[in-house]
Amino acid sequence: MSETSTTPVRLTRKPERRTPPGPATGTVPGSGKTACIRTFGCQMNVHDSDRMRRMILDAGYAEVTRYEDADLVILNTCYVRENAVDRVRGHLGELTRLRREGRLKKVALTGCIGAAEESETLRHQFGIDLVLGTHNTYELAEFVGLPTMEETYTPELPGTGGEHSAFVTIMTGCNYGCSYCVVPMVRGRMVCRSKESILSEVDRLVEGGTGYVTLLGQTVDAWRRDGERFCDLLEAVAERAPRVSFTTSHPSNMEDRTLWAIGSRDTIVKRLHLPVQSGSDRMLKIMHRGYKAERYRRKIGVFRDAAPEGTLSTDIIVGHPGETEEDHEATLGLVEDCSFDSAYVFKFSPRDGTEAATLGEPVAPEVSQRRFVEVLRGIEGNAFKRNSRKVGSVEELYVRHGANEDGRAIGETWTGHAVHLKTEANPGEYVRATIESAGPHALYGSLCGSPYGDLAPYGDV
Ligand code: SAH
Ligand code: SF4
Repeated sequence: MSETSTTPVRLTRKPERRTPPGPATGTVPGSGKTACIRTFGCQMNVHDSDRMRRMILDAGYAEVTRYEDADLVILNTCYVRENAVDRVRGHLGELTRLRREGRLKKVALTGCIGAAEESETLRHQFGIDLVLGTHNTYELAEFVGLPTMEETYTPELPGTGGEHSAFVTIMTGCNYGCSYCVVPMVRGRMVCRSKESILSEVDRLVEGGTGYVTLLGQTVDAWRRDGERFCDLLEAVAERAPRVSFTTSHPSNMEDRTLWAIGSRDTIVKRLHLPVQSGSDRMLKIMHRGYKAERYRRKIGVFRDAAPEGTLSTDIIVGHPGETEEDHEATLGLVEDCSFDSAYVFKFSPRDGTEAATLGEPVAPEVSQRRFVEVLRGIEGNAFKRNSRKVGSVEELYVRHGANEDGRAIGETWTGHAVHLKTEANPGEYVRATIESAGPHALYGSLCGSPYGDLAPYGDV
């Protein structure tokens, strides 16, 4: 795969989200074709779906939300855990039924399952029309009747300009080889996009009205190009965009100066997602993570010094082959020491082709389940304590999701906390709110000077 784009793709218009609730109403004159994109998994996939959305809209399709209203369904899939494949099988089963009934014409399978060998079996079993991996998404263009984009490196395709917030892919793939992970197999080796190209995309987005830019990559902090490192890029983006965030980082690449930049730059959201996976050095070695728990703790110490009010989240895997009770205790100890604001806790899932799938020494499902609950409880206890400290403060919130039917919207503080509140403000606008109460997963606020002081938390204390 080449890193440089040749002729830029000519696009006739910006993608608009056309998502009518029912059947398409023929928003594209003379075409009448409809497509539905379903996205599974991480933010990289959300972003890839945005790119594919741009292609289908450009090809004259109207976007619909229900399978039964679509001529073409695109399942953009995740392969990280086994149950991800099971979920997709369920959807493929439903699509096969709709096709038999003549309510659907074509199905495309894209994303990480598309890049895995298992996709061949799925293609035959469900008669899928098009299977694409993560490296050749551009082939969808030809499939939907656009000129081929073969020469164009996917990350150079324009993002979704004009939206209030946007992802900007700065690198693809991963050069690590974690024992349990399929990402290097399905996304390939790391390719870093040039700073120039990234900054020009950021400029274009900001000019188009985007107020929040999230830099994206599997190991985003591993970005390096022409003698510059991630922190140089982050600082340049923070000069240009009004609000900046990034995900996902790897502890081995995280430099102290990046942590200090998060704390000191006004436009960077003070939030760090730094997956640790385990608190046991023995397990970290088996997993090939490349750092020890102490080094991770030290990084967190720097982050807490740099951004004392900031939010810290992580990923933890329980029940990796060979994990003993002692290893698990070490993870619980690290959870206490780092006092995370949130975490994604996963039970180990064996993936074909990974080293961990062949290791033996499996952890019994009931043991994994108990460890899962214990880690989760530790995380939630600390998160609740930290969130409670915010009660009474007045915060400036960026509205991420506008009000639902109950009038509840979700905003984000500059420290990266999610705040539920009643407001009619649109996504992308800023409001000021007083934090009224806290739960382990979110804060609950009311607009300053508003009558909505009575917002009851959903199930939180
Ligand atoms: N690039 C990111 C992670 C991508 S996968 C990083 O290195 O942090 C997202 C998370 O899924 C991982 O952090 C890990 O916690 C979890 N995960 C990946 N493979 C898994 C597996 N086989 N079983 C259980 N969890 C897994
Ligand atoms: Fe997977 Fe490890 Fe790469 Fe993350 S760093 S994508 S967990 S191999």
